[in-house]
Amino acid sequence: MTLLDGKRIASEIRRELRDRVLQMRKKPELAVVLVGEDPASEIYVKGKVNACREVGIGSRVCRLPKSATQNEVETLVSSLVDNVEINGILVQLPLPEGLDSDKILGLIPPRKDVDGFSPVNFGKIALGENATSACTPQGVIELLTRYQIDLRGKRAVVVGRSKIVGRPLTMLLLNRDATVTVCHSKTEQLKEECLKADILIVAIGKPRYITGDMIKKGAVVVDVGINRGENGKLCGDVDFESAKEKASFITPVPGGVGPMTIAMLLRNTIEAAERAE
Ligand code: NDP
Repeated sequence: MTLLDGKRIASEIRRELRDRVLQMRKKPELAVVLVGEDPASEIYVKGKVNACREVGIGSRVCRLPKSATQNEVETLVSSLVDNVEINGILVQLPLPEGLDSDKILGLIPPRKDVDGFSPVNFGKIALGENATSACTPQGVIELLTRYQIDLRGKRAVVVGRSKIVGRPLTMLLLNRDATVTVCHSKTEQLKEECLKADILIVAIGKPRYITGDMIKKGAVVVDVGINRGENGKLCGDVDFESAKEKASFITPVPGGVGPMTIAMLLRNTIEAAERAE
C-alpha cells in the first residue's frame, strides 16, 4: 500500500507556484469574504491566508458580521468584482443562515472565480471544456496525476454528489475518460457499487463510513472527508485501518486531499492574475 501524500505534493506545488509568481510583473491578489465568526471558517481562512503569503500572493480578508444582510454581502462582493487590484474572490462557505449563497456566488464573474463555483465555470467543465474547476475535485485529480495513476477506462466510483465536491469531480473524471458511477444517500447497495471501483473517491461527511469490506483489493482510495471523530481527532469518511489492508494507494486524513485543495486555490488565483496581465 502506498500513501497518497497530499501534504508533500502540495508543498511541491507551492514551491512551483512561488517560482511562477516571481516571474509575474505584479503580485496576484486574493480577496476572501468572511461573514460571521464560525470557528471552522476562521481556521480555514487563516490557512488560506498563510498559504498565499508563502507563495507571494497578496490576500485581504473582508469581514462582515453574522447580522449582515443579503444586500450588504452583495454590495461587498460587487465592490471586489469592480476592484481591478483583485484577481480572485473567494466567499467562505457556509454563509450564515438566511443568506442566499447561490445568488452571492453568482455575482462573481468567471474570470475572478478562483473557487470554481460559478455556474459558467461549472457548465464549461460539464461540457468538457477548459475552465477553472472547484479546488477540491481539482486537487484530487492533481494528486492522482502526480502519482501517475491512470484514469483512462478505469471504473471510478464517487460517493457524494455535492455541488462543491461530488458533482464537479464526476465531470473531471469523465473528462479524463474514466467510467464513472456516482453514489449518494439514496443509492441502494452502496457496498456492491463501491466494490466495483478501481478508484473509489468518498466525500459524504460521515466518519469512517466506508470500511475495508466495501473496497476491492488493489483499489485506489481517495478520502475527501474531514470529520471530528469521537476522540476529538480528525478522521475521514473512510475507515483507514481496514481500508489500507485492501487499497493499493490511499490518502491519509489529515494530510491527503485537504492540503491539495489549498494548493489548487493558489494555482487558480495565479492563473486568474496571469490572464489579467
Ligand atoms: P455535503 O453534505 O454537501 O454532501 C454530502 C454528500 O454525501 C451528499 O451528496 C449526500 O447524498 C451524500 N451522502 C451522505 N450520506 C451518505 C451515505 N450514507 N451514503 C452515501 N452517500 C451519502 O458534503 P460536502 O461534499 O461538502 O463534503 C463532504 C465531506 O468532504 C465532508 O466531510 C467535508 O468536510 C469534506 N470536505 C473536504 C474538503 C477538503 O478540502 N478535503 C473540501 C470540502 C469538503 P444526498 O445528495 O443524497 O444528500
